[in-house]
Amino acid sequence: MSKMEEAKIYVGNIDESARKARELLLGKMKLGRLVDWATAFSLWPVHLTTSCCSTEFAATWSPRFDAEQYGALPWVGSRQTNMIIIEGTVTTKMACALRITWEQMPPPKFVIAMGACSLDGGIFYNSYNIVKPWQVVPVDVYLPGCPPRPETVARAIVTLQRKIREKSIAGKWVEEGWRPDMKYVKPKEDVCSWWRG
Ligand code: SF4
Repeated sequence: MSKMEEAKIYVGNIDESARKARELLLGKMKLGRLVDWATAFSLWPVHLTTSCCSTEFAATWSPRFDAEQYGALPWVGSRQTNMIIIEGTVTTKMACALRITWEQMPPPKFVIAMGACSLDGGIFYNSYNIVKPWQVVPVDVYLPGCPPRPETVARAIVTLQRKIREKSIAGKWVEEGWRPDMKYVKPKEDVCSWWRG
């Protein structure tokens, strides 16, 4: 296939264009790489607000920053999403909600921990009710700052996209049954017992 053909843009009849694009992609890529490509540009974060970082999360999808241009679209139902952006502090009470939400999401699924509070507790580091997100769900990308600006949230999404494609995480998950490292993640019963006691 010549360079000119590779650069072709399909227009006109949408069904015909979709068929040609599908044949081009399947001819060029293995299924796993196709899953990586599709997943990286279809990262839909679930709405799960844990703290004040959520205002910056919301601003990231405002017209000024327009995170939808990366294929990321916030959604309400956990079963239709594949990304959680932990928006700051995670308390013992929210930890159980976070874990249940993550378990409801279909794989391959990913987590970005946003803000100083979600890294090490931030300004609440010595509070009795703060937990580390990596004890609750496997975190893929850490985003420091208090609060992180919308540009940095967008950068975290791009970093995750790059990680998915370079390490073929989504493709391995689908093809080989790969699972994230759960070494530091506590069992769900323990996580939920922090709140219920
Ligand atoms: S990092 Fe700052 S903005 Fe984010 S939850 Fe913590 S205190 Fe709030």
